[in-house]
Amino acid sequence: MKVEISKTYNPQEVEGRWYQWWESKGYFRADAKSSRPSFSIVIPPPNVTGSLHMGHMLNHTIHDVIVRRKRMQGFNTLWLPGMDHAGIATQNVVERELRNQGLSRHDLGREKFVEKVWEWKKQYGGIILQQIRRIGASCDWSRERFTLDEGLSRAVREVFVRLYEEGLIYRGKRLINWCPRCLTALSDLEVVYQPVDSKLYYIRYPLKGRETSSFVEVATTRPETMLGDTAVAVNPKDARYSKYKDESVILPLLQREIPFIQDDAVDMEFGTGVVKVTPAHDSADFEMGQRHGLSQISVIDENAKITVDGGPYQGLDRLEARKRVLADLETQGLLGKTETLPNNVGHCQRCNTVVEPLLSLQWFVKIKPLAEPAIAAVESGRTEFVPGNWSKTYFEWMRNIRDWCISRQLWWGHRIPAFYCDDCNEMIVSRADVHSCPKCSSSKIRQDQDVLDTWFSSGLWPFSTLGWPDRTDDLKTFYPTSLLITGYDIIFFWVARMMMFGMKFMNDVPFRAVYITGIVRDSEHQKMSKSKGNVVDPLEICDKFGTDAVRFTLARNGAPGTDIALSEDALEGYRAFSTKIWNAARLIFMHVDESDRLPSSAELKQSDLSFVDRWILSRVARATEGVNRSLDQYNRNAGARHIYNFLWHEFCAWYLEMIKLHPERSKPALLYVFESALRLLHPFMPFITEELWQNLPHRGESIVMAPYPEFDPELIDERIEAQAELVQDIVTKVRNIRAEMDLDKKQTVPLRVATMDLAQTQVLSDAREYIFKLALVNQVEVVPQLRGDKLAAQGVAGGLAFEIPLEGLIDVGAERTRLNKELDKVQREIDALDRKLSNASFVERAPKEVVEENRRRLADYQDQAAKLSEGLKRLA
Ligand SMILES: [Zn+2]
Ligand SMILES: [Zn+2]
Repeated sequence: MKVEISKTYNPQEVEGRWYQWWESKGYFRADAKSSRPSFSIVIPPPNVTGSLHMGHMLNHTIHDVIVRRKRMQGFNTLWLPGMDHAGIATQNVVERELRNQGLSRHDLGREKFVEKVWEWKKQYGGIILQQIRRIGASCDWSRERFTLDEGLSRAVREVFVRLYEEGLIYRGKRLINWCPRCLTALSDLEVVYQPVDSKLYYIRYPLKGRETSSFVEVATTRPETMLGDTAVAVNPKDARYSKYKDESVILPLLQREIPFIQDDAVDMEFGTGVVKVTPAHDSADFEMGQRHGLSQISVIDENAKITVDGGPYQGLDRLEARKRVLADLETQGLLGKTETLPNNVGHCQRCNTVVEPLLSLQWFVKIKPLAEPAIAAVESGRTEFVPGNWSKTYFEWMRNIRDWCISRQLWWGHRIPAFYCDDCNEMIVSRADVHSCPKCSSSKIRQDQDVLDTWFSSGLWPFSTLGWPDRTDDLKTFYPTSLLITGYDIIFFWVARMMMFGMKFMNDVPFRAVYITGIVRDSEHQKMSKSKGNVVDPLEICDKFGTDAVRFTLARNGAPGTDIALSEDALEGYRAFSTKIWNAARLIFMHVDESDRLPSSAELKQSDLSFVDRWILSRVARATEGVNRSLDQYNRNAGARHIYNFLWHEFCAWYLEMIKLHPERSKPALLYVFESALRLLHPFMPFITEELWQNLPHRGESIVMAPYPEFDPELIDERIEAQAELVQDIVTKVRNIRAEMDLDKKQTVPLRVATMDLAQTQVLSDAREYIFKLALVNQVEVVPQLRGDKLAAQGVAGGLAFEIPLEGLIDVGAERTRLNKELDKVQREIDALDRKLSNASFVERAPKEVVEENRRRLADYQDQAAKLSEGLKRLA
């Protein structure tokens, strides 16, 4: 019985079926006890609130290409999936829901609120995990983890306590970035600096004990913070102000006496060279205050309102206070000039509110001792960045790293395991919850209200997910992981912290290599954003083009670390590739019976192979070598190119045509090569390859577990490749001439080839039947020299000159008329396009792609015109 598949490829029908089957068969499950070499990857855990966007689609495609190939190569392969609880992001989502019901989290209280977030997580969270399945990602779902699950929470607590015991975690009053909207501290990385045109105000501070008209002017962009000033400062080298040394000034509005100090950090070029010093609201001032023992007066509170220390301004919002302060200064004649100053102002990454530097009691990780081994590990090559230049970015940041503020004033997350005794003020940091004070036995114990920065738990991801702090088989087998694949935007947030924690707690790097991906842009190379309306939904395009086609587009475009411009053209092109493969299979299945079996390579080598079979075997061996070499270097786009070119330009374009002469004889090679090519392609296009492979004679249960093709040098035959190239070149050139001459589709032509070379003569004789069949040639005559008949079309193919005598085959007069008519038509098109494109307002106003399209058409017509003119010349 013949194998039959549907006439057209229907991706949606095929894709849903296979993924479920793969999962149910347990193919993606890794084995902690296996003695095979292991290959492991942990997924960058998506936020529990997330849904799949093009960035994930790219990242997971790259993961899956690498992971599926390793699995087929026989590695004990683990791709560990999971999700991040995403502190602020998730809390914001649930708070928004509450707000719609007129409630705040404080109405519910901490416990109820956290319960509510868990409920939300159960109901709406984790949609993304289903979506990840939808795109074919071969994750081991039996090992799925969540950063807040029991095991990972235990790991977080263990790490916190150990670091605390070693003095690497401390609690201290420091200036932190505070978001008055989210009401939490932010790490330096969570602050986004945006250029803003600020106003620079000059304010007069009267000098104490001098006549009323003497003052110094300070320049500031934040006049409201002057309420917290505890000094004014100048550079000690600044001769203009040396006379005021040891004097003091009277702080306007509050009439507080503050000293004149000298500090090297003051920039003499800025403003007047005198600056106000506000240690509680500016990080440079904070450090200056430390050096000079200045007091710290917080005049702005957590809600960005003025505190009691702001005197008459108490209770005002910071912006309102600014207005009132300026107005009062003006009334008192203490406001000087105002200038515009381009400034970089910090905004909250989550909600875009202007960040307020606040003095606050927070928890910090002392980072330098952790950073040093993590720097050394990359320097010595134990972890390698791909592409390598990203290591520079990593080093630069790691060498300038500052202590990491890890406490967040949120409720959703890992609560800080510090406990306070209300009776004796003892603080206990502990792995287990504390209920009575070890010092005074009081039971009035409170746990710290804060939770840890989300990145604290994701920093442990490569080992906490494998069971640490227990010494599990998973850890032994899969740590260090082989590879991390991630975007360049989270090298600091995530990669650097995993490196530090991995070195510290596992005494080894968390991954052997870090593969940095680019981002997916639109066809105009613009970043995708909601406001631009150019966001592409990956699942929508998977529905439209087929998941395999989308995956192939993402794999084929963009070298490692470079961005991808996603165009409809490319997606169409790779959908056409799926169709091409499907149609090739239909053709093959016309010759295949259910009784046919797949030959082994040994059987094949011993059999009587035709010229074309030996050629295609040599070519598939080269493609195999190319794909493997590229993927070994994590160069997925070159890998995709090798398999695409083989299947499209060699297997479909030539081989399937050439074997039409002797289909039965070529059947073993045909089955062998197509089956190999499907396995080679499987990591890129998992669905269509499984569907076709199952219908072909094959060995094994699923292509997922079939061996990945290996390069077989014995199949390479350079002589045959050169001969086939010659034949193909001749066929191509003859076909072109036939098309240009508009020869009847059934009209065969004679061919004369000029050569004295015996070997080439032999090739032409051996391959005669292919030339006959493919180029509609009725005779191949080998001559020492071309004759150059008037009506002969000439050409060069594979370095050999040839001619096709056309005497009697074309009516010269009619042909000339036809060509002239064609040329006229084309010329009219050229003129019209020329007019359009020389019209400046069209070129300026029309959409860029319309203008481009017109340019392309013009070039096409010009090319046609040149060919037609050439044809006419030949007839002259
Ligand atoms: Zn915020
Ligand atoms: Zn106590």
